[in-house]
Amino acid sequence: MKFTELPLSEEVLAGIAKAGYTDCTPVQETVLPVSLSAKDVMVQSKTGSGKTAVYLITILEKYSRNKAGAALIVSPTRELAVQIEEDARVLSAGFPDYRIGCFYGGVGYKEQNEELSSGLNLYVGTPGRLLDFAKSNKIDFRCFDTIVLDEADRMFDMGFYPDVQSMFAQMRSVKERQTMLFSATLSTKVRNLAWQYMNEPEEIAVHPEEITVKQITQELFHVTKTEKFGLLLSILKKINPDSCLIFTNTKDMAVEVAKRLVMNGYKAEYLMGDMPQLKRLKTLERMKEGKLPYLVATDVAARGLQIDDLELVVNYDIPEDYESYVHRIGRTARAGKSGKAITLACEEYIYGLEPIENFIQMKIPVIWPDEAGLESVEDKSSGYHYHSRRPSSKRVERSGERRKSDKQRSAKGPARSVQKKNEEKEYEKLSSMTLEERMAYYRNQFGGDAKENDKTARKQQNAPRYSQKKAHDSQKKKPQPSKPQSEAVKKIPPRPQEGQNAEYKSARKGLFARIKAKIFGEK
Ligand code: ADP
Ligand code: MG
Repeated sequence: MKFTELPLSEEVLAGIAKAGYTDCTPVQETVLPVSLSAKDVMVQSKTGSGKTAVYLITILEKYSRNKAGAALIVSPTRELAVQIEEDARVLSAGFPDYRIGCFYGGVGYKEQNEELSSGLNLYVGTPGRLLDFAKSNKIDFRCFDTIVLDEADRMFDMGFYPDVQSMFAQMRSVKERQTMLFSATLSTKVRNLAWQYMNEPEEIAVHPEEITVKQITQELFHVTKTEKFGLLLSILKKINPDSCLIFTNTKDMAVEVAKRLVMNGYKAEYLMGDMPQLKRLKTLERMKEGKLPYLVATDVAARGLQIDDLELVVNYDIPEDYESYVHRIGRTARAGKSGKAITLACEEYIYGLEPIENFIQMKIPVIWPDEAGLESVEDKSSGYHYHSRRPSSKRVERSGERRKSDKQRSAKGPARSVQKKNEEKEYEKLSSMTLEERMAYYRNQFGGDAKENDKTARKQQNAPRYSQKKAHDSQKKKPQPSKPQSEAVKKIPPRPQEGQNAEYKSARKGLFARIKAKIFGEK
């Protein structure tokens, strides 16, 4: 189907022509007729299938019809927000007066403030910064008649959910806005959760059976942790890719791999969430322009990013989240092109493999180094390890701006896959419920009614984030009122009085014995 066959204005078609698109991709052909009729949609289609243009064209066509209202696009990462903004600038080429702003953390407020004061047609941003501007009354969520959550499943997981709740609580009612959700992985959980924020959305899955893109050649190597880097060198020597994105699970490992590649003569850099924002954007830009052939990144680069003609994705570590695998390898083979994804399975992260293979419904073909005709390469960085002093750098980093909750953070390794499996089971049960039953279930789960939820969300939002240091400093100076005793503290028996010692001691002894018996099975 050609774009010209859709009910689109001249100006919108001009933007589409500027982007170089003539034929709709399958997701565009299926969703646009629905979204252009102002209906809410939840869209699932594989990575690189052209979802961005679906929502941008919908927003622009709406603008061409009434020239009023404003649209909001929420993205989990700053890099993706910037990319969406760039796409929007191209597609809106037919409207010279169309004003777009991009709002994300890690940069000063001044410039973004100026943009806001002039009033915009399209706001793109990450949740934290958008909420900050709403708090200072620079953004009014009620002005939006169109809301898009890109990478929607990420937006509804624990790290972001409070922010998302808070944003929706400040918006106009579902019937007065069009709400659209997009992702390559949209679980039943997310779809159920999202219903309450949408107006009877149409759930559209394009080729849902294809979770990974068919044009990606997937390969898996079993390797020990100590031999992993050597294997990477051999693989890179054999393939000699023009561009290669390497994913690690932790920030320290991203730095280590990048540094070791440089020591071995590769032009490599790293990308992670807590780098200065300008550096983050510049690094990615150079990769996109083809000036930086090797980039080692955490999952912050896993979602949504378009790197033209990316030849190879390497999972240096198997991701701990099975959806991440799909998003990571989906950085290659975009817009109908082909690509290769190689995964290195070591003893530390091997437990992540089974959930991934269950999810993508295939076994990733295993390749043995000798069969692959790999030569061993001298490792000039042999023995080098990088450990940052900052404890947070060792943490797993996900494809989002928000830190994970402590609970999620501690749910590492096999425990995490078990947790996921349990979740899946629960959601299977949920899918057989009616909408009312599901809503009741979620109200129960997240405590109180929807209003209560919003209150908690707002409280969390109001908790200082950027002003945390200040608050901390002032706390130091002021004497703090004594804290109320927690339940646990109250239960500790009072200190024994003179002469009661023996009784007290024997009571404690009995307690320890019982605890010991419980743990070690001793009597
Ligand atoms: P998704 O969000 O589904 O992962 P994107 O929207 O980022 O994918 O699009 C992937 C690539 O496909 C981009 O480079 C985009 O410019 C290109 N693209 C999108 N729609 C078309 C089209 N109709 N014709 C040609 N290329 C397209
Ligand atoms: Mg996308």
